[in-house]
Amino acid sequence: MMFENEIEKEKRKLFENGTTKSALDIVLDKLSKDLFGRSRTGSLEKQICVICGGNAKKFRDKKSEKEYLESAMCQQCQNNAFRVK
Ligand SMILES: [Zn+2]
Repeated sequence: MMFENEIEKEKRKLFENGTTKSALDIVLDKLSKDLFGRSRTGSLEKQICVICGGNAKKFRDKKSEKEYLESAMCQQCQNNAFRVK
């Protein structure tokens, strides 16, 4: 919860202009759509997890929060992916 403002700020940066998707964003969106059925930026916009589709609003620390902005993975999926406890 304490990280929500930061995420909101990043989201605004990503979406305020509407058409600010980089080529990388577009590639990652396509990849995640193929893999998980939803786009990365779409998940960021709704603040859900690109993998499990669950809420992605609470993160353990700054690092996890930053990771979400990169990968759009919720804390739990990050834990699974990186095998942290
Ligand atoms: Zn998840």
